[in-house]
Amino acid sequence: MSPDLSAFLYLVASVCFIMALRGLSSPTSARQGNLYGMVGMGLAIGTTLFNDAVLSFETILGGLLIGGVIGTLIARKIKMTALPQLVAGFHSLVGLAAVCVAASALYSPDVFGIGGMQGIKISALIEMGLGTAIGAITFTGSIMAFGKLQGFIGSKPLVFKGQHLFNATLLLAIIAAGTWLTIHGTFGAFWVLTALSLLLGILLVLPIGGADMPVIVSMLNSYSGWAACGIGFTLQNNLLIITGALVGSSGAILSYIMCKGMNRSIVNVVLGGFGGDSSSGSGPAASGEAKPVKTGSAEDATFLMKNASSVIIVPGYGMAVAQAQHALKEMVELLKEQGVKVRFAIHPVAGRMPGHMNVLLAEANIPYEDVVELDDINRDFASTDVALVIGANDVTNPAAKTDPKSPIYGMPILDVEKAKTVLFIKRSLSSGYAGVENELFHRDNTMMLFGDAKKMVEQIIKAMEQ
Ligand code: NDP
Repeated sequence: MSPDLSAFLYLVASVCFIMALRGLSSPTSARQGNLYGMVGMGLAIGTTLFNDAVLSFETILGGLLIGGVIGTLIARKIKMTALPQLVAGFHSLVGLAAVCVAASALYSPDVFGIGGMQGIKISALIEMGLGTAIGAITFTGSIMAFGKLQGFIGSKPLVFKGQHLFNATLLLAIIAAGTWLTIHGTFGAFWVLTALSLLLGILLVLPIGGADMPVIVSMLNSYSGWAACGIGFTLQNNLLIITGALVGSSGAILSYIMCKGMNRSIVNVVLGGFGGDSSSGSGPAASGEAKPVKTGSAEDATFLMKNASSVIIVPGYGMAVAQAQHALKEMVELLKEQGVKVRFAIHPVAGRMPGHMNVLLAEANIPYEDVVELDDINRDFASTDVALVIGANDVTNPAAKTDPKSPIYGMPILDVEKAKTVLFIKRSLSSGYAGVENELFHRDNTMMLFGDAKKMVEQIIKAMEQ
């Protein structure tokens, strides 16, 4: 394929990716966005395969086969609730790829066209250094994020004295190693840079508390984009540079939006150790008292909701675990038939990935106009009869407003407590991802409906039909 045609097709693929991002910015156009993404990716892979630099297809086909089989198996087996850790896992692979590509370029510069016996070009060494540092930080950072989301590593922030100073020193050492690599192009400098960056990736994510994980996941998404961009420079592939920059910048924008949604400073989250210890905080466990709890049944919930004029449903991670969205849709239809106004309130960090609740509700064909974001619905709780919280916890926890020591302090919450009655569907009194007790469970206007979210909603539907 001529270089001009290949450049043109890469340009078309880049435009498709931009259209994909645009489409994915709204639930109504998300399908179309995905389609653009697939066309762009197909075009990108096809164009790369017919590049004159490709000498044989055996290795490529072998890679496609192995990767394709693993990808298909994962896609078929993965549960929706495990998607965030899967994404973190995939980000780690992009980071690793960036380090591997940089290492191969350093060891065989002539193959990559970046120099020969007389040494590697300075510009290539700078790109290599940047790509390696970002890639290595992304690799270990994403593995830590995977561990935290999967529950291998506790969601509590792991902090130690002098952490910020240590991280800052590490960053300076990385810059020094990068400079050494640029000036001398030695293998030693490269591996020192890699090792220091791997360590920094671990140290940047370990101190992130549970409630701040959404920001770190989107930050790592951004880093993985910049790492891919670095690979693009090393491989001199314009499409990879553009795609990496698109992922990098969109991830950075998402991190900013998440930070705003959680009322966090991005600098604080990046530096790590934001928030307090999750064992602190005012709650029944913290104070050592066993406070009373009012429990109810599906019939009680049915009575309350049927006699309400408005109900706001607050979905959270537990709804995703129980896959209760379809049953919920059926319940909402029955309530609407009774003339009850029903809406869904979405917190920006509900669930375990950005947009998690929106995706699940869309999957159950819940109309988009019934799904309202936090800022637009929060003042309506005060005039609502019933707030039905299904599998959500942290996003309703008033400790975010009242307890400065709490790791979720400062995060805006859905003001369910202001509703006349609050119904919580969950299996126990245990805390949410951030590990903070929720004093709402013990309030006079709260009724706990203990059980699996899907089963409880099915029981409510049965009671409604009777
Ligand atoms: P939480 O993790 O605060 O609470 C979920 C609740 O669901 C739990 O308390 C659990 O209680 C309940 N639950 C679990 N399984 C079931 C089930 N089968 N049936 C009924 N209930 C169930 O979730 P929220 O959505 O309220 O908040 C999200 C949290 O996750 C925030 O802290 C956020 O920062 C964090 N996070 C968000 C990410 C994002 O991008 N959205 C990414 C990473 C973290 P019980 O065990 O008693 O049933």
